[in-house]
Amino acid sequence: MARFSARNADSNIVDYLLNPSPDLQLTAAYPVNPRRSTAIAIIVIYCILLALMAIPYFRTFLVIQTNPGYIRKGPHAQHVASPSHSSTEKQTFQRSCAPTTIEERPPKSPSRTRTRTRSRSHSAPRLDLDRKAIFDGTVAAPPGLERFYTKDAFVCDMSGLPIFCPKCDNWKRDRTHHCSEVGRCVRRMDHFCPWIGGIVSETNLKPFLQFVIYAALYTLFLLVVLAVFVAEQVRIGLGRDAWFIGILVTSATFFFFAAGMSGSVIQMSLGNYTTVENLFKGNKTYFIAVYTGPQTPQTALQRPLYPTVTYPLRPTSGADIRQFAILQTKPGENPWDLGATANWQELMGYSLLEWLLPIKYSPFCKHGARYEYPFGPVLDRMKREAGLSSG
Ligand SMILES: [Zn+2]
Repeated sequence: MARFSARNADSNIVDYLLNPSPDLQLTAAYPVNPRRSTAIAIIVIYCILLALMAIPYFRTFLVIQTNPGYIRKGPHAQHVASPSHSSTEKQTFQRSCAPTTIEERPPKSPSRTRTRTRSRSHSAPRLDLDRKAIFDGTVAAPPGLERFYTKDAFVCDMSGLPIFCPKCDNWKRDRTHHCSEVGRCVRRMDHFCPWIGGIVSETNLKPFLQFVIYAALYTLFLLVVLAVFVAEQVRIGLGRDAWFIGILVTSATFFFFAAGMSGSVIQMSLGNYTTVENLFKGNKTYFIAVYTGPQTPQTALQRPLYPTVTYPLRPTSGADIRQFAILQTKPGENPWDLGATANWQELMGYSLLEWLLPIKYSPFCKHGARYEYPFGPVLDRMKREAGLSSG
């Protein structure tokens, strides 16, 4: 049997199953006969897993090109060069952003755009906020604050202003992170992934997770099938086929990579953390501006437990004055943790079909009128402790 070298063995598993060489069929100890049903089953399962892996991959890639979740830059940062993009790349990049909301939509008129480009090219980027001057009224706050104070709660700094990104010259929505790879603030940024050529963020985390899970299953299937037939070939004396061994090792490598990535993303998703948030979650605290309601509760008036901030900063007659308490989470608390089941549903959807296929955006992409992302029990507790809710 040793005379059957690896060179004589069929290098393709399907050929090996459907058309084993006549010599193999005559082998006395382990006759290898055609196994059509096994071959068909392997082909069918292989194609299904390949399709399941490819569809979310292309969905992820497509979303990166069309709706990556970037926050629009402010006027002082519109033409500050991105560190990792040439000017040509940047133009393509900006065209491809396809913002989902009007506030992030670029100007439609090309002529107006060019005019603005010239006039702004001399503008120095805003370095940081002078908060004292903003509250004193000597400096105007950057535009866009109403997108925060019309909500019931938002992440802020100690002064009660939303977090500001000096590189993008714009306010940062809750859970937004500035990505140095692309030079933009990204909503619920998870990580920059060179394998898919862009940022994994709120708009494509779901298909990305589906892709890595199916990639793990696909490579695991290849790994098992190849291991079975390599073992068989060794057992009947064919030796080790170099192609089989090569694919087996490759499958094993990508399986451990994809399985590790799947486990990591699932674990963080069940706790409602992004990869960025997970890195700093140990002692991280958040200041959250919480709407106190039309009237400040009596308990708060008697016993001021928290600093407040009032919006609009420059109220006009008839303006809707909204007072916010500035509350702080305890170190390590995640104010968006809704519980494992709800966290999973916010990412993957509310039906099994949504979990399995990349057919819809994650529910948390629909930013509510009251919150950018739903807050969990941590905020409820903070409000109770501050006397802002009786529950
Ligand atoms: Zn930024």
